[in-house]
Amino acid sequence: MDTIIVTGGAGFIGSHLCERLFYDGWRVINVDNFNDFYDPLIKRRNAADCKEFLVRNGLSGDKYIVADGDICDMIFLRDIFKKFLPLAVIHLAAYAGVRPSIQRPELYVQVNINGTTNVLECMKEFGVKYHVFASSSSVYGNNLKVPFAEDDFVDKPISPYAATKKAGELLCHTYHHLYDINTACLRFFTVYGPRQRPDLAIHKFTQLIMEGKPIPFYGNGTTQRDYTYIDDIIDGIVRALDWVRNGEKRYEIFNLGESKTISLSEMVNTLETALNRKAELEMLPSQPGDVERTYADISKSKIMLDYNPTTEFTEGIAKFIKWYRRRNYR
Ligand code: NAD
Repeated sequence: MDTIIVTGGAGFIGSHLCERLFYDGWRVINVDNFNDFYDPLIKRRNAADCKEFLVRNGLSGDKYIVADGDICDMIFLRDIFKKFLPLAVIHLAAYAGVRPSIQRPELYVQVNINGTTNVLECMKEFGVKYHVFASSSSVYGNNLKVPFAEDDFVDKPISPYAATKKAGELLCHTYHHLYDINTACLRFFTVYGPRQRPDLAIHKFTQLIMEGKPIPFYGNGTTQRDYTYIDDIIDGIVRALDWVRNGEKRYEIFNLGESKTISLSEMVNTLETALNRKAELEMLPSQPGDVERTYADISKSKIMLDYNPTTEFTEGIAKFIKWYRRRNYR
C-alpha cells in the first residue's frame, strides 16, 4: 500500500480528498494542527467522518493516520516524513481567506510561505518526487481579461493571502527545478459543497438565512464567482496526482473551476429558493482585497488532465443544503 501525506487533511477540501484517496488504495497521513481559524471541533468531526467512511466502505482502519501537528514545526514534520516515507504529498494546509489575511498578514506569511518551505524541504530530504500544491484563483487579482488563464499576468495580487499563494507556486517551481520534484499547482476557484468552511459566503449566508438574521451583502450584487463543486475539485486533484506520477520533469499550473460565473445576487437567489426562505440583506460597501470577478479558463486542465467538471450550481447548492440540514437538524 503506497503512502501519501495530505497536509490540511482535516479541513473542508482535505477531508473529502482523504476519503477519495482511501478509495483509490492509498494509506493517508493527514498532517493537520486543527487550528482555530474556524471551530476546531468541525475539523475533528471531518476527521471522524473520514474514519467512518473507512468502516462504511469495509476498508481497513490502518489506511488513515492523523498526525496532529504544525507544518511550521520542522522537528515534528521531519519526524512524520521519516516515519512514514510517503511516495507523494498533497499540500493543502494553509491559512485561507482573503479578508482575514488583511488583518493578520504575518500569520499567512508564516504558514503559507514558511510552512510550505518546510514541506518542500522535507520532500527534498526524504526524496519525495510527487507533489500537488493548493493554490488559489485569488492570484489573478483584478485581472481584466476573462476567463483567467494560467499564463495570464499574476504579479499584482491584491491581498496578503493571494501574495502568499503566488509565493507558494514560486517556491514549488524552485524545488522542482533544483530537486526534480514533479509538481502540479492547482488554482482552485471558490469551492463549495458539504463541509464547506463556515467562513465562506455560501455556508455563512445559509446559516444566517436559517437563523432569520441579515446577510452582509457587499457591493451591488454584481461581483461574480466561478463556484466549483467539491466533487469536481477532488476529481481534478486526483487527476493532477496521476499527472505528476506519469512523466519526467513535470511542473505545471492548472486552473480548477467550473468555467461559469454566478453573480452575488444570483447566488443569494439560489440559496433562497433552495431554503424556501427570503434573505434579509444588510447592504455594505465593497471590501478591499475582494476581486470583482473570478472566471476560470479550464481548457489547459481539460487537455492535460482530462478534467471535466459536471456539477451545475443549483444541483451543487441542493447537495450542500441537504448536508447542512442533516448536520444541523434543520
Ligand atoms: P480549511 O481551512 O478547511 O483547511 C485547511 C486545513 O489546514 C485546516 O484543517 C487547518 O487546520 C490546516 N492547517 C492550517 N494551518 C496549518 C498548519 N500550520 N499546520 C498544519 N495544518 C494546518 O481550508 P480549505 O477550504 O479546505 O482549503 C484547503 C486549501 O485550498 C488551502 O490551501 C486553501 O488556501 C486552498 N483554497 C481553497 C479554496 C476554497 O474555496 N475552499 C479556494 C482556493 C484555494
